[in-house]
Amino acid sequence: MPIKVEMEKIVSLCRRRGFIFPSSEIYGGLSSCWDYGPLGVELKRNIRQAWWQAVVQERDDMVGLDASILMHPQTWVASGHLEGFADPLVECKSCHLRWRHDDLAGNNCPACGGELTEPHLFNLMFKTSMGPIEEEANVVYLRPETAQGIFVNFQNVLNTTRKRLPFGIAQIGKAFRNEITTGNFIFRSREFEQMEIEFFVKPETDKEWFNYWLEERLDWYVKLGIKKESLRLRQHTKRELAHYARECYDIDYLVPMGWAELEGIANRGDFDLVQHAKYSGKSLNYLDEETKEHIIPYIIEPSAGVDRSALAFLCDAYDEEPDKEEIRVLLHLHPTLAPIKVAVLPLSRREKLVAVAKKIYADLRQNWMVNYDDTQSIGRRYRRQDEIGTPFCVTIDFQSLEDKQATIRERDTMNQIRIPISELKTTLQAKLEGEALFVLPPGGKIWKGGGEE
Ligand code: ATP
Repeated sequence: MPIKVEMEKIVSLCRRRGFIFPSSEIYGGLSSCWDYGPLGVELKRNIRQAWWQAVVQERDDMVGLDASILMHPQTWVASGHLEGFADPLVECKSCHLRWRHDDLAGNNCPACGGELTEPHLFNLMFKTSMGPIEEEANVVYLRPETAQGIFVNFQNVLNTTRKRLPFGIAQIGKAFRNEITTGNFIFRSREFEQMEIEFFVKPETDKEWFNYWLEERLDWYVKLGIKKESLRLRQHTKRELAHYARECYDIDYLVPMGWAELEGIANRGDFDLVQHAKYSGKSLNYLDEETKEHIIPYIIEPSAGVDRSALAFLCDAYDEEPDKEEIRVLLHLHPTLAPIKVAVLPLSRREKLVAVAKKIYADLRQNWMVNYDDTQSIGRRYRRQDEIGTPFCVTIDFQSLEDKQATIRERDTMNQIRIPISELKTTLQAKLEGEALFVLPPGGKIWKGGGEE
């Protein structure tokens, strides 16, 4: 069974170590908005980078895009968001709290037991106005998904890149939803970040590509270290299917509150291009050079969340181990995702040691995010790095001054090797890029972790 960790432990670790803070905390916070601190920002950058590398950089059938958050309001008429992007809402006649109708078990207010109004639809898009005059004609919306920015740029990308079907456009960016029920930390917030692919295919090949992307995306989480048993694919029932979708699966992760969606993979058919062609009056056809026919591609959409991924990676990596009288908290984050890759720790603050350590620190920082720490006992410093998921610590001791060697200590096993300082960078590089841990260099020495002070 997958290990389940309580959400409070994750929230507390994130707060304590500077991964995630409540938004505008000094004013008491803003409901379901979050600020990513010094470590959180690195984790998110690494998630985005890993996604971009897998879906854009390493593929020749994909290109990237960064569309504007504010879009022409007609976009949302064409997409169906203005009409259909709404949840049924009920209000308590006594305490005036509002609830999502779908979430309620009974017919009364869960807070005070009061009588509820009939459900009415509540649009989830944030509305604002463009320019200095606030009037209906100037209304614009904060995008509730990044996808539409891709659809409206389909012809631009086609014309400028000469891509032929099948090909995809990938985008990472902020999205906003005025969610009625929020909570569960960063799982459901009102401002979040999506990583979306719109993959354009010939209509008769949609099933094949849909299955391909299901596998590909599931694999991405597993390769980055999420336990297989904490993931599942769940097919949407007919009732659940969004208005645009022919078929949809969720990649669910077993978060502390149960199975929940990390990513949705939908076969959107030709819905989006047909709608935007209709509302814009522009042709969004594709000329099939083999048959000389104009066709409207089908779209397969893998749509993931940066924040939900971050939560899943954190929950899955969280671990506690007995450590003498204490408990060692550690994050088994995949090295690709770890906010800090290496920590440089001189055994003492003696000038000569510090000088060597700082030189190594400056050198390693050219490749990775590196921490330098010379406070408190070495055991304490290792624990601090374990808790934030740093895969490797480099320790400089007095012997290093003589033999020009340093110790690398590995987070998960606490194993240590001693190697020449001149080989530190290449050794760490190999380890961070996934070489089997601790293959001994000639003349190197390995010993088992534990008993660290
Ligand atoms: P849910 O059913 O949980 O509301 P959804 O089906 O509406 O999610 P999609 O519209 O499919 O979500 O959005 C794609 C992805 O964007 C989701 O899988 C999720 O990772 C992310 N996402 C959507 N809404 C939120 C939110 N409020 N907070 C954080 N991430 C979100």
